[in-house]
Amino acid sequence: AFFRFLPLMPDAHALLQTVFGYPAFRGEQAEIVAHVGGGGNALVLMPTGGGKSLCYQIPALLREGVAIVVSPLIALMQDQVATLSELGVAAACLNSATAPDEARDIVRQARAGTLDLLYVAPERLLTPRFLELLNDLRIALFAIDEAHCVSHWGHDFRPEYQQLGILAERFPAVPRIALTATADEQTRADILHYLRLAEARVFLSSFDRPNLFYQVVEKHNAKKQLLAFIQQDYPGASGIVYCLSRKRVEDTAQWLVENGIRALPYHAGLGHEVRDRHQREFLREDGVVMVATVAFGMGIDKPDVRFVAHIDLPKSPENFYQESGRAGRDGLPAASWLCYGLNDMVQLTQMIEGSEMAVLQKQVELSKLDAMLAFCETAACRRQHILAHFSEQSAPCGHCDNCLNPPVTFDATLPVQKLLSCIYRVEQRFAASHVIDVLLGRANQSVTAFGHDQLSTFGIGRELNQRGWRSIIRQLVAKKLLQVDIARGQSLVFGDGCRAILKGEQKVYLRPLADDKKSRSANTDR
Ligand code: ADP
Ligand code: ZN
Repeated sequence: AFFRFLPLMPDAHALLQTVFGYPAFRGEQAEIVAHVGGGGNALVLMPTGGGKSLCYQIPALLREGVAIVVSPLIALMQDQVATLSELGVAAACLNSATAPDEARDIVRQARAGTLDLLYVAPERLLTPRFLELLNDLRIALFAIDEAHCVSHWGHDFRPEYQQLGILAERFPAVPRIALTATADEQTRADILHYLRLAEARVFLSSFDRPNLFYQVVEKHNAKKQLLAFIQQDYPGASGIVYCLSRKRVEDTAQWLVENGIRALPYHAGLGHEVRDRHQREFLREDGVVMVATVAFGMGIDKPDVRFVAHIDLPKSPENFYQESGRAGRDGLPAASWLCYGLNDMVQLTQMIEGSEMAVLQKQVELSKLDAMLAFCETAACRRQHILAHFSEQSAPCGHCDNCLNPPVTFDATLPVQKLLSCIYRVEQRFAASHVIDVLLGRANQSVTAFGHDQLSTFGIGRELNQRGWRSIIRQLVAKKLLQVDIARGQSLVFGDGCRAILKGEQKVYLRPLADDKKSRSANTDR
């Protein structure tokens, strides 16, 4: 398409330089471009920021006809089209926001063969009218962006995506390229299946971010811990702080500002104008800390973000990887700092259970949450752990908290037996805070009301404090030895293996416990 403007038939490399202004391909781009440009089908798994767009944009220009790009997000389409237009590439998009006469004009251009790339939402593409239009066009290729949307396992399932297999059937001669940054095993299998790409070549880029150092800390006062982290490790640096709720965004931003940090809030409740202003400030100026919900970050390309902090647990390893991956795009050292507690787990489980999702979807979300918890509680290298989640083998990184201070596990069988007996005595019907009160021998109102101050386990756990017991409970939940029954007031209930521990047939090894004896607050998770 594009080469009609150039004196000679260009090769991929010439297009990269003349149109996009980059000196060289990155990673696997060159091979992908050659493969798809030559008519092959491909599945491209590349981390965010890796440069997926060029993998179909250059073949789109190399091949004759218009490239049809399926994309689920209007904002992303518009960004891409604006960027391409500035480079002089003929690109347009059709979605629910396109005005009717504008849409007619775009269709006219497509028919006239003057478009290089046409971005379209999946539901639009699947209409009989659009499929008919496609029959009349010369098509360079189909690119299916954010291909994980095809899978229940992906983080934003779009049922329409599953019907895109129709493209293989109707246009067998047109090359197809599916792209995503989500690469876990199940998602990958779903993409290959639904998009009929079984024969496609798979390009799996490394998801390793060698300059990103992971650190997980146990939550006792998230805001204070965050402030200390910023002040000690990253004073004056640009960073992003992710929170679960809007209220928490507001509170945290205010707290940081009160303590001399240039922080700005960002969440969907703030209104366009404020959000745009804050985003501009964050992008243009140095040393701004954006405190945000996950609404922030899509398409943000700021290379010198020095840290990404999560003060609430992300809902899946994919979310975590994507969000923390916004730090250190410039290749210089950067930090991913995650602060989590048992309450995070409870809160997220509650959100999933209480949502409108189908049962199957809930199970998927819960298992992702489990995987996230396993990352937090691992005693092994964090980077190795997260890469393994993306089916990538690696050596210990040497830079994460666990590599720098390898946690020494200890035989915790005795305290665990005390805890389990106590849970057993209260008939697996009470939440962590109540069980801990009984262990510590606190005869408060709830404990006495149920007569739990009369139990044989009342006060048998005074050798540890509340944080110590919380730490044990969290680790047991992560090991699935305990479960939190959300439907029954967050009661702690036995998982498999508890009886063997109680009978002394099985030992339990845990990571060291927090032993900050000064901490006596009622709710140590917040
Ligand atoms: P992804 O879609 O994988 O998240 P993008 O395609 O948006 O990534 O690319 C991320 C950034 O990297 C963009 O700013 C893009 O212009 C830049 N980029 C991509 N390929 C190259 C390259 N070969 N050389 C230099 N910069 C590149
Ligand atoms: Zn490590």
